Amino acid sequence: MQTNRRIIHIDMDCFYAAVEMREHPELAGQAIAVGGASGRGVLTTCNYPAREYGVRSAMPVFKAKQLCPQLVILPVRFELYREASRNIRQIFKHYTELVEPLSLDEAYLDVSHHKRRGAELAEEIRAAIYAETGLTASAGIGPNKLIAKIASDWNKPNGQCVVSPSRVAAFMQDLPVRRIWGVGPKSAARLIEMGVETCGQLQAHEKAELASEFGSFGLELHQLCRGIDERPVEANRIRKSLSNEHTFAKNIETLEDCEAALRRQHHELLEDLRSSAADRQIAKILVKLKFSDFRRTTAEIACRQAELDTYLKLLREAWGRSGEPVRLLGIGVRFAETQSGPEQLELAL
Ligand SMILES: [Mg+2]
Repeated sequence: MQTNRRIIHIDMDCFYAAVEMREHPELAGQAIAVGGASGRGVLTTCNYPAREYGVRSAMPVFKAKQLCPQLVILPVRFELYREASRNIRQIFKHYTELVEPLSLDEAYLDVSHHKRRGAELAEEIRAAIYAETGLTASAGIGPNKLIAKIASDWNKPNGQCVVSPSRVAAFMQDLPVRRIWGVGPKSAARLIEMGVETCGQLQAHEKAELASEFGSFGLELHQLCRGIDERPVEANRIRKSLSNEHTFAKNIETLEDCEAALRRQHHELLEDLRSSAADRQIAKILVKLKFSDFRRTTAEIACRQAELDTYLKLLREAWGRSGEPVRLLGIGVRFAETQSGPEQLELAL
């Protein structure tokens, strides 16, 4: 186990909204949100004054307007956000080659090789980001990715939090399990049934028990709940595709029901694209079905947008290949090729 890693997680504060606030000084102090223009009328992000009214990202516009009638909703301008993101990544490069971007507004930096303290580096990086872009960032500093990412949320906005190795045990003790990477609503519900809400409580469960309950993820959980995370910062990690799939509790018998399921999954896919791949070009989209007789089929088409109508067409095509009920529906995108290497990555943004 590598114990001497030092990782900084930088997370921009309400990034898209912050860029728009910078571009619209006349709106200073007002509740602002970005998004709402897509067919679904959902907000992409909002600033802190809007959050005080309970407005959240991914919230439908009508609901946000109910909570905060004076909310100013601006259209999404990815070109601007990409430009700010490029400038921020240039700053990271002054500090380390080992930068793993998670999205336009978040990245892990491995600064293990630095002689200076992580907290000091993080302060300096945040100040440089502010000087260069006029935007604030928060940072988490810790011995691994898990801790750094959780810590960056601790003193948000425009703050930072250091968790030194000696503080890890105490930091994990009362941490809600939901904060662990990979614990979604389903696993969290299952853990609550087991009487587990905090990482400290999860630590009382044996490895074998977690493995039988959650499979291989159970083994990871056994480590993660102790604050152990050995994933390295991967500087050139490039995702080839993004998808989600759902196995139904009861096989789906009609095309209409399958379409309804697709709509839900499509919504989820757009969220994932927004948060983790807003900078990537889509090359292909696809729908995968698995039937009750376990045969599977995939319908795909080359295109640059993940639009619902195109997915519905692909679904009908795949559906038509079998008369059997559907037990699994998967939808996804494949991204255009991007060469690894920092220069090419910059160009692709
Ligand atoms: Mg952020």
